[in-house]
Amino acid sequence: MNVTRFAPSPNGPLHLGHAFSAIVAHDLAKESDGRFLLRIEDIDGARSRPELAETFRADLAWLGLDWEEVPAQSSRIDEYEVAAATLQAMGLLYPCRCTRAEIAAAATEFGPDGPVYPGTCKAEPPGAGEAVAWRLDVDAALSRTGPLSWVDEPAGEQQARPEQFGDVVLVRKEADTPASYHLAATLDDAADGVTLVTRGADLFAASHIHRLLQELLGLPVPRWHHHALLLDENGKKLAKRRGSPALAELRTAGENGQALAERLRRGEMPAGITLSQLLHYSP
Ligand code: GLU
Repeated sequence: MNVTRFAPSPNGPLHLGHAFSAIVAHDLAKESDGRFLLRIEDIDGARSRPELAETFRADLAWLGLDWEEVPAQSSRIDEYEVAAATLQAMGLLYPCRCTRAEIAAAATEFGPDGPVYPGTCKAEPPGAGEAVAWRLDVDAALSRTGPLSWVDEPAGEQQARPEQFGDVVLVRKEADTPASYHLAATLDDAADGVTLVTRGADLFAASHIHRLLQELLGLPVPRWHHHALLLDENGKKLAKRRGSPALAELRTAGENGQALAERLRRGEMPAGITLSQLLHYSP
């Protein structure tokens, strides 16, 4: 029995790529008599538009999907803080005061999320009150856990390589974004009882970090299913800013959502869109 989830961020409308992701997760749950969950990932307070959650529900219903909704991230901040305090007590977080521009200028390596943090504040800790974020000391974390592996159903067993990200930010001091995506999503999947984390292949690499966090925090280890991405005719991930229509636009224009969902299930992509396996996604 698979418990899967669709976890959209209410920063912008859902488009066809999201529809495909929701359908894959929905079907993987239903084919196993399992549960399909909807989680609103509104951890990024500054960018979140609360009214979009209702639009998302209308979009999913229009596609003919049924789901159980679990608590949104904004209601789980206390749990993220407890987990961060646990990692802090283990000596695995260090304060950082570097800006994005400073990191971009100093970085010599690129990882799945962009420039790899060069460790400036690990070498020279910032003064009290200067920190804007707390980073995970990935080397220290890995020496505590030893080698880890995880299973992506389509791609098979993976050796966890969280070090490719460098020391990721797990906690931010800005009140609006108290926990990073990595920390929040990992804790939520455990709290929601997700057994098969289903999401696009563009987040494949993030699972290396999530596997490490699960081990450090004693969380259950799910399996993963990273699905192929829908790409536009230029080979780019679908995005509103590149003209991919919002599901809400298709819905209000009177398109038949269930028929669209059936076509996507059969692999019949709308004009100008291809389905591409991007399992070893690199930026
Ligand atoms: N909230 C993320 C997004 O909308 C998805 C995260 C996940 O599925 O783990 O891209």
